[in-house]
Amino acid sequence: MEFTTDALVLRSADYGENDRIVTLLTAKRGKLSAVMKGVKKAGARLNFASRPFCFAEYVLAEKGPRYTVTGASLYDGFFSLSEDIAALYGAACVTQAADILLYEGMAGGPLLVSAVHALGELSEGKGDAVVRFFLEALSLAGYPVTAGECPVCGAIPHGRMRFDMDRGAFTCDACSEGVPASETTYLAISSVLGGGSCAGDGCLRALRLLGAYFLVKTDSRPQSLGEYLRLLHPLH
Ligand SMILES: [Zn+2]
Repeated sequence: MEFTTDALVLRSADYGENDRIVTLLTAKRGKLSAVMKGVKKAGARLNFASRPFCFAEYVLAEKGPRYTVTGASLYDGFFSLSEDIAALYGAACVTQAADILLYEGMAGGPLLVSAVHALGELSEGKGDAVVRFFLEALSLAGYPVTAGECPVCGAIPHGRMRFDMDRGAFTCDACSEGVPASETTYLAISSVLGGGSCAGDGCLRALRLLGAYFLVKTDSRPQSLGEYLRLLHPLH
């Protein structure tokens, strides 16, 4: 049986001499792996669709538990990412985060929209795209982060504060046992959650905190995040 679905390549691995296996974030069936036959041969028609960050309409043949890609129409390959090493690592953080967060049975559509939007922003050089994506993706997976009133006492946290990993929220210094967090981090995350942006030190600190939050919630974190942080700010 064949079906078509919009999908983004999260991972691609060589398989045998001429084939690849791609891990796709699909709109219709969440995350799945599919074989792409012959795509490593010179001039292979579907080679483009086996590359990381390829966003396309895929035609998939389903046979038992196995999927094979039989066709693809490109929407965007985000090719300009390869010209900016930091943006490339940022994009890897996006696909790795989606890969970690997508559990079996989770709807893929909203996460796909969010990931494709983030890759587009990274291609345009927007430095806070990964912060925005992490917040959206964590929320879709059931681990929302908030940055408003302290959930314990209702005051707006300021100065020294904490981030409570259980609640996914910033609290006053005295109100929780959470990890110490800076006002800069709070303001950056609050801005992005409110539809705004963040930059520089705020962006870095937000990414560091969200990386720690990932680890607590999923026992994993995007493996490219460390290198991405170093590329954004070599002195840190
Ligand atoms: Zn409080």
